[in-house]
This record gives sequence, C-alpha cells and structure tokens, in this order.
Amino acid sequence: MSNLPPQRHRFDVAALQLKQYPYGEGDQILLLLTREHGLLRAIAKGTRKPRSKLAGLLAPLRCNQLTLVCGRNLHRVEQASSLQSFSSLQNDYDALMAGLVMGEVTAAFCQEEDPQPALFDAFCLGLLQLQSGFAPRALLLWFLLYLLENQGFYQDWRYCAGCERQLQAKDRVFLLGSAGVLLCQPCKPGAEGARYLYPEQLLALQQLQQAPEPLPLDLDERRCNGLLWFLQQHLEQLSGKSLKSFAFLYPLPEAGSASPVATPVKQGVNTP
Ligand SMILES: [Zn+2]
Repeated sequence: MSNLPPQRHRFDVAALQLKQYPYGEGDQILLLLTREHGLLRAIAKGTRKPRSKLAGLLAPLRCNQLTLVCGRNLHRVEQASSLQSFSSLQNDYDALMAGLVMGEVTAAFCQEEDPQPALFDAFCLGLLQLQSGFAPRALLLWFLLYLLENQGFYQDWRYCAGCERQLQAKDRVFLLGSAGVLLCQPCKPGAEGARYLYPEQLLALQQLQQAPEPLPLDLDERRCNGLLWFLQQHLEQLSGKSLKSFAFLYPLPEAGSASPVATPVKQGVNTP
C-alpha cells in the first residue's frame, strides 16, 4: 500500500541507489531502495552534464538523503546529500560485485512503493560489512538467503523436501536448483538436475538459516561459488528474470567450454 504524499508534494527519504540509466540529453533515471516506500524510480535532471552538483552523489551502492518531488510514474530528485558513500567498495572488485548482485536481486524481488524496512537495513548492514572487509561471497550467501526468507520464500535446510526426513551431515544430500530444495539420496532419482552437495555446503546453508547478520563460513571460494550458482538458479526461477551480475562472481569458462550455467559438474555443486 503506497504511503507517498500527493503528486507534486515534496518528501524526504533515505535511499540506497541500486541502478541508474541514462535518459534524454543529460538526465538519469535512478532505481532506489527505501525503508518506507520500497523501490522508487526517480529522474535526476542534468546529472550527466558537466558541473552538475549532484552527479558525484548519484552512483550505485551509495546511500543518500534525498528530497524528491512526487510524480505519477517517476519522482524527481530535487536535493541530495550523502549519508554513506561506501566508497572503499570501489577499490575491492569482489566486494563491489557482491554489492551489485545484492542490488540486482533486490530490484528483481521488491515492488515499488511497498515498504521494505528489514531488507533496507539488511542491505545497509551488508554494505557496511563488505566495507570493513567481510568475505564478499560469504556475505552474499547470507544476504541472498535473508532476502528469500524476507520475501516469503522460506526454505528449511534441515529437511529433505521429498520425504521430510531430517538431513544429517553424513547423508548424501542433493540440491535441486530450479526448485531451491534439498533431497536425500533415496528421493533423488527422478529429480533431473539435482546435484550433490558437499557436507560443508549443507552446513553453511543450515548455519545461515534465519541468521540476522552475516556469519564467517568455513567454505573455500569454489564451494561458495557453487552455492551462489545454485541460489542464482533458484532466484531466477522465482523472479522469472535473468540475473546477469552473478556472472562477474565466477571464473570465466575456459575457451571452447560451455557457459557456467550449461556445464554439468559431476562431482558436486561447483561452478566450473
Ligand atoms: Zn528424502
């Protein structure tokens, strides 16, 4: 339910900038995440022209205090001041990419003018942790699982989705990416595309379940990428959108091999 003021009225809002697009001669369209109004789209006039005062403030993954003029489809940025620049992310490729994936996934799942207080706070916490050096892939795993739960796609990683048996560390467990569920060995036959899950990956999923903040994980980069790849399949299935920024997290496929998404991996949940 929208809680915006009437059209042409001003309102102030703290906003995380998720994306921006060039528009017209020198303008930009901003996609913003706010606590009170969820996603908002706003036009920033003249910010692609030299000498624009706002240009430096309006960049992805910055948090600004904005004064917006309410419009029917698009609000207009009237003033901006910086709340958090998260500027050190610009010098750390993996941290920056993790932040951009957070932004793309958030944009794919949230609705405009639908308040998102918990997700907004989790996003800010994630960026602060990235800025202070938290392992980017572990942080991203936490955020994506948090977002799934927050948006109503709760999955209990302690149980097999087929027989509802509690999964133990010693079990052979399989992930079905398209459905975002775990299956035990007897339930796996017939589930096309299910992949073996390493015990440490199962443990990480279970540890992150309902974790209010990021946790350090005992997973190397390859195992982290495997889980991220699985979550990418699941999030794309749920949102019906292709989440392109994930590609920046994985190593490039070797010449002549298929894309990471199309390459089956026999041993387990790993990107090639
Ligand atoms: Zn089962």
